[in-house]
Amino acid sequence: MTEKNTHLLPQLPWPENSLEPVISAKTISFHYGRHHQAYVDNLNKFIKGTDYAKMSLEEIIIKSAGEPDHAAIFNNAAQVWNHTFYWNSLKPAGGGEPPAELAQKINESFGSTEAFRKELATAATGQFGSGWAWLILDGERLRVVKTGNADTPLIRGTKPLLTIDVWEHAYYLDHQNRRPEYVSAVIDKLLNWEFAAKNLR
Ligand code: MN
Repeated sequence: MTEKNTHLLPQLPWPENSLEPVISAKTISFHYGRHHQAYVDNLNKFIKGTDYAKMSLEEIIIKSAGEPDHAAIFNNAAQVWNHTFYWNSLKPAGGGEPPAELAQKINESFGSTEAFRKELATAATGQFGSGWAWLILDGERLRVVKTGNADTPLIRGTKPLLTIDVWEHAYYLDHQNRRPEYVSAVIDKLLNWEFAAKNLR
């Protein structure tokens, strides 16, 4: 019998080769098929027989955050969530201009879409070591933030709209150490603005 909250690896929202040449099918096959799968498997292993086994993924992340004894549960749960969110933040032939409602909010918060793009790129390239760059809704305002390792804006009561994974495993096979090249190509060619707009509602 499957426990109520056995966590599963979600389907990718697009074919593995469809983000090429920015992100190769080989990168996706390792990043999704090995890394994301391992976070799911480890999470299921670590929560087995604990109170966390009865919780949703979001509840696990919020309850285990800042609990030193539950760091492995937090790290794997947050990485499961962050990666699913990252796949949805990307799409083939993405980038371009945000839909009107989101564009207006971006203009209010950053001045222009171009200024937002620069701020996101600066956060993504400037994150020291492994982590994530995010567009979040914080109260009424949009902000760009970066987080280290598995850390996620979910635990601060803010609402993520988009993310870029800047762990080396996200880009090393395709761009080696050239993180800025990966980041600017993702922003210009793969960002899924419709997903961000949907999260704003
Ligand atoms: Mn990753």
